[in-house]
Amino acid sequence: REPRPASGRRDAPEPGQPVHAPMLEVSGLTVRFGGLTALDGLQLHAAAGELLGLIGPNGSGKTTFFNALTGFVPVSGGQVRFDGKDITGAAPRRVAACGIARTFQRLRLLSELSVFDNLMLGLHLALPHGPWVNLFARRRLAAAVRERAAEARELLAVFSPALAGRLAEPLRALPMIDRRLVEICRALVRAPRLLLLDEPSAGMTPDETAALMDDLHAVKARRPGTAVILIEHDMAVIERVSDRCLVLDYGRRLCEGSFAAVSRDPEV
Ligand code: ADP
Ligand code: MG
Repeated sequence: REPRPASGRRDAPEPGQPVHAPMLEVSGLTVRFGGLTALDGLQLHAAAGELLGLIGPNGSGKTTFFNALTGFVPVSGGQVRFDGKDITGAAPRRVAACGIARTFQRLRLLSELSVFDNLMLGLHLALPHGPWVNLFARRRLAAAVRERAAEARELLAVFSPALAGRLAEPLRALPMIDRRLVEICRALVRAPRLLLLDEPSAGMTPDETAALMDDLHAVKARRPGTAVILIEHDMAVIERVSDRCLVLDYGRRLCEGSFAAVSRDPEV
């Protein structure tokens, strides 16, 4: 844990800024794949409302960190606390229920389903459900689905108005960039408190990447408490959007701080 300034004044938020409360605390997180230690005692924290840039060379354990946090690979040691609750090694469903949503470096969408259906995947957990609802409260369920659908369309329109008009089309008809946007919106439709983005701009041109980051900022401005951890290899993007960066190397924290401080570090 980083030492806190005693008065708390040094990191007091600017007027109008969200109060940064500790949200995610990771200590000593270790993941081993046979003889390979992909994460080696990782220390990391993220506060409500902040955007933490996670950088490091290929194979340094960035994706493994997301996978360990969200229950996609087993944890070999250490602890993950979210809102003070221990969620170390929790299954994906429980992690999602806590308010953590993610995207994947290699997209996980269903190409035969429509854009709309892909956006709604997994959302049933957040809707009223169960046999009683299905039989006797269908109107309530339908109203909830309509409400979420409107929200999904609105969200998608922030990123791409054209795409918001193509909700009924099968995903396979869309280019890769639009699929990425669908996956980001699928994570956002859940209104997560912590959003994990794994190289969301992969395959995009610099202009497309800049537009994506502006759109993310627009969504974040509407939901000021949402924390984001962004894995991104383009340092110009990290410099522009992150409040703080953490550099991983061989599964360990190499250094942490503002982009300016981190980029001055000779080890980095
Ligand atoms: P990054 O996202 O930083 O490029 P990864 O987290 O994907 O790196 O990988 C870290 C290391 O762990 C790499 O050496 C990779 O080959 C290995 N690794 C990742 N996932 C698995 C897995 N499921 N099984 C075995 N090895 C893995
Ligand atoms: Mg990766």
